[in-house]
Amino acid sequence: MKLTTPFLALFLGIASLAPASEATPINADAALKKLKAGNQRYLSGHAIHPDQSFSRRAEVAKTQHPFAVILDCSDSRLSPEIIFDQGLGDLFVVRVAGNVIDDHALGSIEYAVEHLGASVVMVLGHQRCGAVKATVDAGAVEGHIKSIVKSIQPAVNKIKGQSGDAVDNAVRENAREVAEQLRNSKPVVAHWIHEKHGKVVPAYYSLDSGKVISLD
Ligand SMILES: [Zn+2]
Repeated sequence: MKLTTPFLALFLGIASLAPASEATPINADAALKKLKAGNQRYLSGHAIHPDQSFSRRAEVAKTQHPFAVILDCSDSRLSPEIIFDQGLGDLFVVRVAGNVIDDHALGSIEYAVEHLGASVVMVLGHQRCGAVKATVDAGAVEGHIKSIVKSIQPAVNKIKGQSGDAVDNAVRENAREVAEQLRNSKPVVAHWIHEKHGKVVPAYYSLDSGKVISLD
C-alpha cells in the first residue's frame, strides 16, 4: 500500500502538518475569553480536554506560545489545565502556596510575557486556601512556611475589621495585592503593561462550584 503524505505525516506525528492551533499570539481580552470559556466547559461538566493529543505534543515539542500565565496556589485541587480545560502549550503555570511572588516566580513570569508572548497574567486565589488560613490564624508556623505567611500578612492586615469570612476576604485581598505588585514590577512587567502588550488580573476560584471569577 502506498502511503499518502498526509497519512504518513499523521502516522509519524509530524508537527508541520499537524492541525493549526494557537501559534499566533492573541490579545489579553481574547486570552481572558478563552480562559473563561474553558472554565465554563469544566464547571458545567462539558470539558473537551483540548491540545492533549499525540499530534499536539509533537506540535509544541520544539517551541511554545502559551496564551496565558497562571500564578496560582500549589493546592492539589486547582490544576490550571483542568479548571480552564486547556492542554499542552496553552498555559505557563507558576505555582506556589498562597500564590505569592518572590524573585524566582517573578523571573518565570517575566520570561513568559517577554519571550513566549503570553498576553495575560492571572493571579488566582482560591476558596479555603491553607496558606491564607495559616496567616489569618496567626499561629506558630514551622520552617520556610514562615516566608509564605510573611508575604500574605499585608493582605490579612488590610481586611481586619471587614465583615464576612476572614479567610475568604484575605484570599481575595491577597490576589489583588499580588496582582498590584506585578503591575508595578519594574522593569519588565510594568513596561509590558504600559506598552499594552498584556494585562495582569486577579481572580478567585471556588472549590465548591469550580467557577473562576474576576476580582477586578
Ligand atoms: Zn491555597
